[in-house]
Amino acid sequence: MNTAISKIVGELEAAIGARAVLTDDDALSSASYDYTEEPARRPSVVVRPTSVEDVQAIVRTAARERLALTVRVAGSNVGGLAIAPSGGIVVDLSAMNRIVAINEADMVAILEPGVTWEQLKARLEHDGLALRLGYPLSPPDTSVVANCLLDGLGNLSMRHGSMADWIGGLEVVLPDGSLARTGAGALSDVWFGRGPLPDLTGLFVNWQGTTGIVTKLAFQLWPTPPLRQRLFVPVGHRDDAFNVMRALCRRPLADDVGALSWPTGKMVLGVDKPLVRDDGEPELFLYVDMSGENGAELALRRGLLDQMLANLRQAGARLEAPLELSRLVKLSPRFAELAEFPTRLSFLVDHPGGGLSWLGTYGPMSRFEPFADAGVAIMRRYETPPILVSRPMKGGHFGVMRFITRFDRRDADARQRVREMIGELLEAGLDLGFVPYKTPPWMIPRLRPRLDAGFQRLMNTVRQALDPSGIMAPHCWPPDPALATLDG
Ligand SMILES: Cc1cc2nc3c(=O)[nH]c(=O)nc-3n(C[C@H](O)[C@H](O)[C@H](O)COP(=O)(O)OP(=O)(O)OC[C@H]3O[C@@H](n4cnc5c(N)ncnc54)[C@H](O)[C@@H]3O)c2cc1C
Repeated sequence: MNTAISKIVGELEAAIGARAVLTDDDALSSASYDYTEEPARRPSVVVRPTSVEDVQAIVRTAARERLALTVRVAGSNVGGLAIAPSGGIVVDLSAMNRIVAINEADMVAILEPGVTWEQLKARLEHDGLALRLGYPLSPPDTSVVANCLLDGLGNLSMRHGSMADWIGGLEVVLPDGSLARTGAGALSDVWFGRGPLPDLTGLFVNWQGTTGIVTKLAFQLWPTPPLRQRLFVPVGHRDDAFNVMRALCRRPLADDVGALSWPTGKMVLGVDKPLVRDDGEPELFLYVDMSGENGAELALRRGLLDQMLANLRQAGARLEAPLELSRLVKLSPRFAELAEFPTRLSFLVDHPGGGLSWLGTYGPMSRFEPFADAGVAIMRRYETPPILVSRPMKGGHFGVMRFITRFDRRDADARQRVREMIGELLEAGLDLGFVPYKTPPWMIPRLRPRLDAGFQRLMNTVRQALDPSGIMAPHCWPPDPALATLDG
């Protein structure tokens, strides 16, 4: 450890206690990489705050010493966001994991940033609350707050939009170490929504930790229907699946609908690298979540779904009869990974080399077909199983199109090929108006020529105003040096 780092470590230890300041090899190396092909970068120190005051002390020390701060919880964002610039400080928020309050009547939970999906689910069940949350397909031990701040998606997104829409306000440590609240909670003791005050919550959503460190977040919950059913519908051609999704999201029948392409089913069953679809094998599986207050309501919805599918079949769609997932699990217990959320998709993350990467985008559902065609063709050219995952969002106002690949992260050639393939997928998506989410820093220079110049100047201005010393995650949304701020 050089003298400058020893000095910082000493200051941090004095501020938050020696046990919360980690410089051992294990801590530094496990913070240096993520699932993706992004090259590893080793921080000089990992700090593990347990209170808002700790976070404030860390930010003030870093600002004084002009050291980069990067937030990490589970590091599962699949975009290199939580890999700090070399020599920087990683702020590991996993020990700030209190569920501060659950307000059942107003359906909101106040969470610290280390609270995980499995933790919140267990708490709701333990307290016997008839409230549910929307889950991403991320591992159960990842952060709820991180996924809201990164505007992720989950199984209630078809009805309720992306997860940024589920934020009722937040508390944040700003880059000067001061504390602020946004949303209704800036005025009310109930954090019921982001308005009607000016929506300053947006200054911290999708900014990837470049504008502050969020220490509490109001997370919206929904009522749990007593009866639920998950169905799988095998579909012969992807265009038919997209038509079902477009039809379903406009009717109040299903809680969620999404599509998984054929390699997913094979990989769940243990096939390592499925490149060939068997004769007659469905191209996609639609999963449809339905619920009801009682058996009669569920049966009515199910009947209407069956009728809708029959009509589409008559019009030529290649749709098989829905299978109840619970029956599929009895036939092959491996499908249990898709039955209950949160889940660990072990076929994606637990394999030799452990690499996982994707292009994840939000975009117009009207253009699903051309993007799927282009994406599958690119993946086939790279001899990669064409894993495609898609879902309507917010009643169909937009949708998700995600192309996923797994690879051996130890193999430099494999990492390079993955980066090239995702680069091609990105260009294909941008041409069709799709926008990458949880935008990995390496993509930003590719977005710049297409990104509105006024938008970029405004971003620079906000960032400059909030973080003049440039310490907050400087690798994320790197500012374009050619563009001035609005006043310069
Ligand atoms: C197999 C798999 C499936 C997945 N499926 C989905 C899915 O269906 N939907 C989905 O949306 N995501 C999905 N993900 C992505 C990922 O799991 C989520 O983005 C996850 O919630 C991130 O949580 P984390 O604890 O890993 O955050 P990290 O990766 O540790 O943090 C990510 C970044 O978020 C920002 N951040 C986090 N907390 C704060 C804070 N308190 N203040 C300021 N900035 C902060 C920072 O920029 C930080 O670097 C999946 C990931 C995997 C591995």
